[in-house]
Amino acid sequence: MVEIRLTNTKTRRKEGFTPLDPSNVRLYLCGPTVYDRAHLGNARPVLVFDVLVGLLRHVYGADQVTYVRNFTDVDDKINAEAQRRKGLGSPLSLEDLISERTEETIGWYHADMDALGAARPDFEPRATQYIPQMITMIETLIARGNAYAKAGHVLFRVRSFDDYGKLSGRSVDDMIAGARVEVAPFKEDPMDFVLWKPSDDDLPGWDSPWGRGRPGWHIECSAMSAELLGDSFDIHGGGIDLQFPHHENEVAQSCCAHPHAGFANVWLHNEMLQVEGKKMSKSLGNFFTVRDLLDQGVPGEVIRFVMLSTHYRKPMDWTDVKRAEAEAVLRRWRGLTAGIEPAATPAPAVIAALADDLNTAGAIAALHELAGQGDGAGLLAGARMLGLLTDDLGGWAEAGDEAGALIEALLAARTDARKARDFARADAIRDGFATAGVEVKDTVAGAEWSLATGFDLARLKALVAEVGS
Ligand code: AMP
Ligand code: ZN
Repeated sequence: MVEIRLTNTKTRRKEGFTPLDPSNVRLYLCGPTVYDRAHLGNARPVLVFDVLVGLLRHVYGADQVTYVRNFTDVDDKINAEAQRRKGLGSPLSLEDLISERTEETIGWYHADMDALGAARPDFEPRATQYIPQMITMIETLIARGNAYAKAGHVLFRVRSFDDYGKLSGRSVDDMIAGARVEVAPFKEDPMDFVLWKPSDDDLPGWDSPWGRGRPGWHIECSAMSAELLGDSFDIHGGGIDLQFPHHENEVAQSCCAHPHAGFANVWLHNEMLQVEGKKMSKSLGNFFTVRDLLDQGVPGEVIRFVMLSTHYRKPMDWTDVKRAEAEAVLRRWRGLTAGIEPAATPAPAVIAALADDLNTAGAIAALHELAGQGDGAGLLAGARMLGLLTDDLGGWAEAGDEAGALIEALLAARTDARKARDFARADAIRDGFATAGVEVKDTVAGAEWSLATGFDLARLKALVAEVGS
């Protein structure tokens, strides 16, 4: 059997992976808070886990893996958005506005991640459907002395868990010294974090032993993972930004509530995505969603390729140059594999790279070699381990083929127009290319063309109709 090695944040080492139960390998990925469209960075953990789950299914069997990714559908940002809509005069109740917002966002999320070829997890629990389990877990923590109720709040007593800080490599005292921990009158210690908080009448709330209220964020994942995967499971992941405090707090809650279980065996954290070398942020104006890119005509497969070209433990940079290169490579590979059946087993070099701490960049290098050898069947089988060159993601390349035929015809028409000294027609074609997003360079060898990010097939077709071909 292939040995998978993964870098475990818990031990800070690359380790051989041994599942607790090889007939049911269990993973949990922290999912999105559903108040807005997923930005490009949010897609990174999804794609990393998609490849990981695919590798685990390849090694342990398609039905021997259980993958859970939650939706956080109770959150102050969701409430704020619903209140904003109410303020704009919506006749709906706040509750309806909240569920309208979360349903809408979950629909977008599914559509966007589907477009990147990410398989849906086996379970997608929503926090609001697990409130009783959260309440039970909080009661257990209180009974064990790890939590206390005060003024409608329940807080986790951080000092009661000796291993607090171990996952993220921080000491509690350092954290207090440098931290922006919230001091509040209902806290015994500023480090303590919220398990439950009161809701006033304008906010969603559930009845609990501590009054009407709502859960804190961290308890959601502890309760949902225990319910769906058990008190101990194999791999827990998310972006590195979640390591502290979210994952540290999950560990504290779960290990204290289930002291004889180990919670997650392996912690996997992806580094952050940047844009053209800078942190993606709204204030820098380089913030965009997955949907923005798709709407600009960047194919989901191209986004997936660029994302997987960088190892998950390195910061990754989204650039337009990478986008264009990925598009060219995929177009070439799709040409090379057209009408070919994939090899029965993926090339060992591809599997070896993925098994080595999910080295997707190494796997892509192995694919380049297969392509260089003209091994279409091997290339196809290997690429599919990365979720590339699949039938589902191929529509854009066909559209590209169609575009190619139209562009060639228009270029020929432009040549004819020039010969006939019909400069108005030649100029109309040039301008039409520009508006459709086709970049044309005239070289001594003839015209070279490429599709710009905003390429629009409908406009190209309109151009053909307008000027003829
Ligand atoms: P959130 O909805 O903010 O909790 O984020 C959902 C997931 O996206 C989490 O696993 C985050 O760690 C991850 N994430 C957020 N921003 C980025 C980024 N810029 N790069 C990579 N992952 C990110
Ligand atoms: Zn979580």
